[in-house]
Amino acid sequence: MNLLRNTAKFAMSITADYINKGDTVVDATVGNGNDALALSRLVGETGKVYGFDIQPLALMRASEFLMQNEAPSEIELVYNGHEEMDRHISEEVSAIVFNLGYLPSGEKQITTTADITALNKAIDMIKADGIVTVVMYPGHPAGKIEKDKVLEWGNSLDKGIYHCAYISMINQPENAPCIMLVTKKK
Ligand code: SAM
Repeated sequence: MNLLRNTAKFAMSITADYINKGDTVVDATVGNGNDALALSRLVGETGKVYGFDIQPLALMRASEFLMQNEAPSEIELVYNGHEEMDRHISEEVSAIVFNLGYLPSGEKQITTTADITALNKAIDMIKADGIVTVVMYPGHPAGKIEKDKVLEWGNSLDKGIYHCAYISMINQPENAPCIMLVTKKK
């Protein structure tokens, strides 16, 4: 797999290094379930994946997809926005993945909205040396606004507590998909 040609898989390949078998992890935007399946395989039979989405269609598709592909871990799909994730999860988590934008083959008007509340909760919830991964798609107008807001937030994080990295294509159009990663030192 050429990871530079698939931003979501590129982001997941980095995230994978922060996950061990048996961990609890979060897919903050379940969509069609691709990221949830990858996370489930990473945490394995003894691990748990929480998945959030605001669209019943996404949760239905993801549920079917995860079953068809025999996702190995426990998976709890939650019909609620990721800004409420702390109400559903009490255990320590090692990774939280945001794959922003709209549901592929769904309603393009229903997109994520750069909710900084969810990102703030995510960096609070991860354990030390855990990771929050954000895949962004600035190719549509809402996605561009979202990317600017997310990067501004990342830029403002306390350097004594977090490391924040940004990965973008330097020879592709400015609106190509890109990745932000945050890890917690303590
Ligand atoms: N991770 C998905 C996959 O592997 O197929 C792709 C996610 S898709 C790009 C973005 C998803 O975010 C959509 O399904 C959309 O309904 C969902 N979404 C939008 N706002 C949300 C929110 N506040 N909380 C959780 N999910 C949200």
